[in-house]
Amino acid sequence: MPPSPSAQRDVVDRLIHKLSGIRFQWLAFPKDLEERFEKETIERRSGRLWLEGLIAIILFDLFLIVDFYRAPWQFHKAFFLRMLVVTPICLLVNTSLLYRPNKIFRESSIAAAACLAGLMQLYLESNQSQVASSYAQMSVLAVILFNTIVMRLRFPYAVGTSVVMLLGDSIFLWKDRTLDLGDEIFGLGLGIGIVLIATIANYSAGREERLNFLLQLRSEMLVANLNQLNAQLVRHSERDALTGLGNRRSFDLRYAEMWTKAIAKGTAMSVILVDVDSFKKLNDRYGHLYGDEVLKRIGSLLQQALRVKDDFAARYGGEEFVILLPAAPEAAAIQVAERLRKMVELAGFPAIDPAQGPYDESIRATVSCGVATTYPTIHDHSEHLLQRADKALYRAKGEGRNCVRSAPPQQNLAII
Ligand code: GH3
Ligand code: MG
Ligand code: MG
Repeated sequence: MPPSPSAQRDVVDRLIHKLSGIRFQWLAFPKDLEERFEKETIERRSGRLWLEGLIAIILFDLFLIVDFYRAPWQFHKAFFLRMLVVTPICLLVNTSLLYRPNKIFRESSIAAAACLAGLMQLYLESNQSQVASSYAQMSVLAVILFNTIVMRLRFPYAVGTSVVMLLGDSIFLWKDRTLDLGDEIFGLGLGIGIVLIATIANYSAGREERLNFLLQLRSEMLVANLNQLNAQLVRHSERDALTGLGNRRSFDLRYAEMWTKAIAKGTAMSVILVDVDSFKKLNDRYGHLYGDEVLKRIGSLLQQALRVKDDFAARYGGEEFVILLPAAPEAAAIQVAERLRKMVELAGFPAIDPAQGPYDESIRATVSCGVATTYPTIHDHSEHLLQRADKALYRAKGEGRNCVRSAPPQQNLAII
């Protein structure tokens, strides 16, 4: 089971806290987060590495000019190693970046290709002259700086490059006959110093990159959370707190929306007004709290009486409810109203606390319903349909309550 959003936020917060400190932290996230980090950075990173790699290959090949003037006696060897060995391998590695290879291949192949170029340079300069051997130290440093600071390889691979280059340099210095011990110590000391500085820079850059990723992730999580809370707020602002049905505000919105749709589609629109019978008496006899319980129960029965997905029930005000039935003809609307009326009658009122005294037979657990249907056109007013339903309800009340009455067809506004 995936962790909950709040658990994910906690993990991210903890990591931000850790990476924001100054103590050394291993630059790796938990597995899921690491995968996400890799996924979100691979595009940009591969593109950047490809471009920087290409520039480095071109610079590396331009050194053929230096080879030509400085050591013409071994130019053919330099040409062979540069153009026919190292460059094709480096180009292959560089081109593979365009295919977004996985992290291990990407980082290790770049590290290996750069080391190969650096070691080849050492090999060419070895035992040529004191000047050549001294300058060769520059190429070692160039490879180290290139991989750790320019390419910013992931930390273990940057360290790996530095270790390989320092080892290669140690062998070079040891085997070189043109340098004395002092020069060799100077060369190695310089290499170690640069490696330390470059490693710190690489670590800081990696840490910053990860921290930025986490901060971005956290703000995305906060926005998502905020959106969710907003949606919840909107849902709550549309609900009637007592019954859980839609409130008057959401009724107005839905009614306007359904009305417009009915006009556009040329379908029917039915409204049922439901009023609890003799509710005042019930309140007076058993108290307002009990009255609230009754309203809750009727609200839930009302919801159950609806069968079609788009049907909508809301508390219209006080002990009155309204049901909207889009695309329902009059007969169907009467059926729904009748079903609801029967459900309330059968369910009866919630149990009464014996302390309240015996059940009052004169108070009945019933509702009356007024139904009105129309096929709205742009010339009609939605308020008119509600007025017709209200008149039908008035008639139901007048004819003894606990019954359903429907409004006459629209052209005759008088109640049948
Ligand atoms: P009729 O059968 O004609 O509808 O009679 P009635 O008593 O139901 O109608 P009337 O309009 O005289 O009274 C409605 C009562 O509903 C009055 C009011 O106190 C009560 N009422 C309105 N809203 C609430 C509510 O949220 N909770 C409770 N408990 N009572 C409410
Ligand atoms: Mg009423
Ligand atoms: Mg009433």
